[in-house]
Amino acid sequence: MQILIDDSRLKPVLEKVEARERLSFDDGIALYRSSDILALGYMANLVRERLHGSVTYFNVNRHINPTDVCVASCRLCAFGKRVRDPKAYTMSLEEVWQRAGEGWSEAVTEFHIVGGLHPELTLGWYCEMLRGLKQRFPQVHLKAFTMVEVGYLAQRAKVPVREVLERLRDAGMDSLPGGGAEIFSERVRRIICDHKITGEQWLETARAAHELGLHSNCTILYGHIENEEDRVDHLVKLRELQDETGGFVTFIPLAFHPDNTALRHIPKTTGFADIKNIAVARLMLDNIPHIKAYWIMMTPRMAQIALRFGADDIDGTVVEEKIYHDAGATTSQSLRRAELLQLIRKAGREPVERDTLYRPVTRTETAFTVLV
Ligand code: SF4
Repeated sequence: MQILIDDSRLKPVLEKVEARERLSFDDGIALYRSSDILALGYMANLVRERLHGSVTYFNVNRHINPTDVCVASCRLCAFGKRVRDPKAYTMSLEEVWQRAGEGWSEAVTEFHIVGGLHPELTLGWYCEMLRGLKQRFPQVHLKAFTMVEVGYLAQRAKVPVREVLERLRDAGMDSLPGGGAEIFSERVRRIICDHKITGEQWLETARAAHELGLHSNCTILYGHIENEEDRVDHLVKLRELQDETGGFVTFIPLAFHPDNTALRHIPKTTGFADIKNIAVARLMLDNIPHIKAYWIMMTPRMAQIALRFGADDIDGTVVEEKIYHDAGATTSQSLRRAELLQLIRKAGREPVERDTLYRPVTRTETAFTVLV
């Protein structure tokens, strides 16, 4: 099929995409600098349909944020609170387990567990939390702790990152989410999250997790002070690590939400930028199987559109989202399974419920089975 491309700089990129060739750093820059969103969408959709046809994945999950107390004070963040902040909270172990049980009515297949860097909660406390969850909900996959949280636990316990990962895995952690990567560029990190682990440490922690057989997701945070080079550099670094380990399952582009952060003067991202980031990710990350349009961040409406611009996953029911809502997200804090099905079908895509590792889930009225 002959397609019309307004931006002639994209023609060599299109040829590579059609020939299934890897795109270069410069190709990534050309994609980000182009306003020809339909050409980007055409190419990204070509790759998406090659990999997944019309299938669009979602899951039935529940977020649990055990604490918002955080020592890091990242300027990008509206979630973390100082330990003495009257609005800060820390759940007891019993509260975490009880909160998890509240999602049980929809038979969740995944708990997504992330929180702040608490100065007093120990590695032993987190292991106990995981063991308690596994005991109570043995069928539920525990996707827990960003690379940043793992790095902080290692620093506090004065043990190597690898040992922290082993202890968390042995206590029940099944995989890791992709947050905290932000932008790997040191120049940018110094301004937006200077107390966090470095980009290099994030990648090292992901490498260690993958070597232990733990899968993880990965992310980018765009729409603040980064430039196109920073974004492409970030994607290329993830692609290189994936060539080595094959441990990343899903990439999730995350838009910066400025409300209630120290960077609140930065305008919110546009729908155009959100869609473009999905498309560029699908084109650059040729070795990461899935690209997620996170509806909490993009809104369900934009996430639907993204399913034609490279995304093959729309995330899950979520049930109780705090991090983006503290930063001004106006989306609902949860969607029912039936609503997700409808969103996907109305975009002309075929919904498939998955577990965290993308195995299909089949349900009856009262139970679910993961097809292994
Ligand atoms: S982004 Fe994470 S590490 Fe930084 S302040 Fe917020 S919760 Fe803490």
